[in-house]
Amino acid sequence: MKIEALETALYRIELPVPLSDSTHGTITHFELVTVRLRDADGAEGVGYTYTVGVSGAAVRVLIDQGLRSVLIGAEADLIESLWQKMWWRLHYGGRGGLVSLAVSAADIALYDLKARRMGMPLYRLLGGFDSAVPCYAGGIDLDFTLDALLKQTDDNLAKGFRAIKMKVGRARLSEDADRVKAMRAHLGADFPLMADANMKWTVDQSIRAARAFRDSNLTWLEEPTIPDDIAGHTRIVREGGVPIATGENLHTLHEFTQMIAAGGVTFPEPDVTNCGGITVFMKVAHLAEAYNLPVTSHGAHDLTVHLLAALPNRSYLEVHGFGLDRYIEQPIVIRDGVALAPETPGHGVAFDWKALENIRAGG
Ligand SMILES: [Mg+2]
Repeated sequence: MKIEALETALYRIELPVPLSDSTHGTITHFELVTVRLRDADGAEGVGYTYTVGVSGAAVRVLIDQGLRSVLIGAEADLIESLWQKMWWRLHYGGRGGLVSLAVSAADIALYDLKARRMGMPLYRLLGGFDSAVPCYAGGIDLDFTLDALLKQTDDNLAKGFRAIKMKVGRARLSEDADRVKAMRAHLGADFPLMADANMKWTVDQSIRAARAFRDSNLTWLEEPTIPDDIAGHTRIVREGGVPIATGENLHTLHEFTQMIAAGGVTFPEPDVTNCGGITVFMKVAHLAEAYNLPVTSHGAHDLTVHLLAALPNRSYLEVHGFGLDRYIEQPIVIRDGVALAPETPGHGVAFDWKALENIRAGG
């Protein structure tokens, strides 16, 4: 069935409360870029990507001016073929970065359209493993007082979470170590606890930090240093003695391949909205499986739950909503530490388009 229409939009989503981590400063809003595809039968597929506050307009232009001509009139089911065409259409300005965000949004829309046409929930189309996916609450809480951090933790436990991630990367490593220890004491010895440094440190500082956290039994330490330093990651894994997650800032399959093959990551964590879409996310996950590694995820949990529900080597789904829940008709349900992939056809993320209309940006 041929694609007849493509519509993009850009929205500004204010955060309910400003959030901060070690490198992005204070985050007050993010931008949502949506893609709606319609085929000749009138069936629709919806894709999206997001930014932490800038460059959403540029992503939208890449889709409108770069990808539209590839997709309109094309056979919607041939997703691998269309992905190649989208990749090469934008390759000169790309190989990652914003180009990967644009391709991701379009690729997600293609998969949603295909799954909806087949009347099948996305996770079943992608392989189908188990719709109940272990998940964790991703706190963006670096500047919270310890009391506020523990209060947020109790709130997350009450919401049904059975795994929690906190931010690290404060001015002094001793502060981080004390906060991690306090969380471990609060949660008990075996509760799954992760810590995320958002690329704050050099390699040597990362190794020191990992060693300082070693007695706190972290499930993983996330993004200790910049994603570009692959050899550095290998050292951190080997010398730090703590499992390492990274990947939310890796934007191509090839970047993941190099990191995984070098032994620089224990938990690859692609973000389906910036790695090249479902097409690339699944390849990264299968590559991880071939290397006997678990895979986790970053962002867009309402959609990503389907991807992890399709994978035997999935670990935890990251749940942090950026307040997007307000614009989704049926946000994800968390019960006893698991998120359930819905059984409705497609990815099941139904945006409230009327509500979004009020926060539309850029025409
Ligand atoms: Mg992170």
